Amino acid sequence: MNKEPSIVIVGAGIVGLSTAMHLAQSRVGKVLVLETEKDVAEHQTGNNSGVIHSGLYYKPGSSKAKNCAEGREAMYDFCKEYGIAHERCGKIVVATHADELPRMAELEKRGLANGLTGIKQLSKDELKDHEPHVTGIAGLFVPQTGIVNYRDVCRVYQRLITESEGEVRLGCKFISCRRDGNGLAIETNQGKIHASFLVNCGGLQSDRVARACGVEPGVQIVPFRGEYYELVPEKHHLVRNLIYPVPDPSLPFLGVHLTRMIHGGVEAGPNAVLAFKREGYKLLDISIRDMFGLALSPGFWRMAAKFWKTGMGEFHRSLSKKAFLKALQRLMPELQMQDIHRGGAGVRAQAMAPDGKLVDDFHIVEAERMVHVLNAPSPAATASLAIGKTIAKKIEQLINL
Ligand SMILES: Cc1cc2nc3c(=O)[nH]c(=O)nc-3n(C[C@H](O)[C@H](O)[C@H](O)COP(=O)(O)OP(=O)(O)OC[C@H]3O[C@@H](n4cnc5c(N)ncnc54)[C@H](O)[C@@H]3O)c2cc1C
Repeated sequence: MNKEPSIVIVGAGIVGLSTAMHLAQSRVGKVLVLETEKDVAEHQTGNNSGVIHSGLYYKPGSSKAKNCAEGREAMYDFCKEYGIAHERCGKIVVATHADELPRMAELEKRGLANGLTGIKQLSKDELKDHEPHVTGIAGLFVPQTGIVNYRDVCRVYQRLITESEGEVRLGCKFISCRRDGNGLAIETNQGKIHASFLVNCGGLQSDRVARACGVEPGVQIVPFRGEYYELVPEKHHLVRNLIYPVPDPSLPFLGVHLTRMIHGGVEAGPNAVLAFKREGYKLLDISIRDMFGLALSPGFWRMAAKFWKTGMGEFHRSLSKKAFLKALQRLMPELQMQDIHRGGAGVRAQAMAPDGKLVDDFHIVEAERMVHVLNAPSPAATASLAIGKTIAKKIEQLINL
């Protein structure tokens, strides 16, 4: 009998692939990634803003703050080493009303506490030196922020897994897992697999994957669609790099921003609209199962009661180009209707606690022979190398027990 431990990773998004790459390279066992889709990075990872986040926003000491700082620098080094197109271009955060100034000062404090150096306060005129078409009353420049395409990063993770004798099995859907003697019996749409350990990196399905392993996740995934507009090519010159508003600290999302993409073009967005389907990229994508799942959860109604006003605003911005444009015009008043057209969308897997609170930090649950990643929202793409390394270490410890 083969004595080498085998490790199954569910999900070939950036977190699953990074974990698999670290495990495959450490040669602690045979690594197999199961992915439902026909390619890697088809969900959150392949439909995000492509920003290498600095770590400005996160609560000092949180898992997000630590992993973002470590992961960001690791991501820059990785991109350099493997020739992945990227740019450390910096970003500005723009205050447009006086009531945003205390929040911006708080952001600066957080950034400093999170080890960011070189953050610079910008006056109204200095904002124009960075972004001539922006209008605001003050701003912050953060030099550590950058841009990349995370699909490009995943392709390299995938190649390195294969080169280290791991396997990424596409079109292979995880169905269930139960303990079987000294290991795990895993069922997939392509048959049964016996494994020693399992890592759940199922993103939008991660709570269901956990349940299908007999593990109570303690959270429920709520899908929030993020829709983008694109600037028409003649207006690309309006945006040099990345332009963000001051975020509302009570919300887990950053507010619509303008982002230059690494392969060209400028995106505006994403908003944050409750999706009627976990993989609901369009307004009319509806899943009865997903909607019932939410409707039957008391936490959901508590969340809805708290955020209904914000939610209605987001729906309005989703339906109305004019309303979306208005949000952008706060940062760049000269933008006009004909300057933007609808682009793609991504769906965030946001974990919600039973009391309806949206879980802010990364949330990873360990169970016998298993690790379940149950909340890996932004900046998990930035932080993927740090998160993957940590999970791989956990599995190595379990193997050595
Ligand atoms: C609109 C948007 C913008 C964002 N912008 C940024 C940004 O600029 N910078 C940043 O750092 N982060 C950003 N994020 C967050 C980042 O994209 C995510 O944190 C990250 O991609 C999460 O990766 P993941 O591997 O956990 O999930 P995913 O990429 O969603 O991967 C999960 C995978 O699991 C697979 N799967 C699910 N169930 C099964 C099953 N039963 N069997 C087999 N496979 C299964 C899915 O098909 C999927 O491929 C953004 C996210 C969104 C949605």
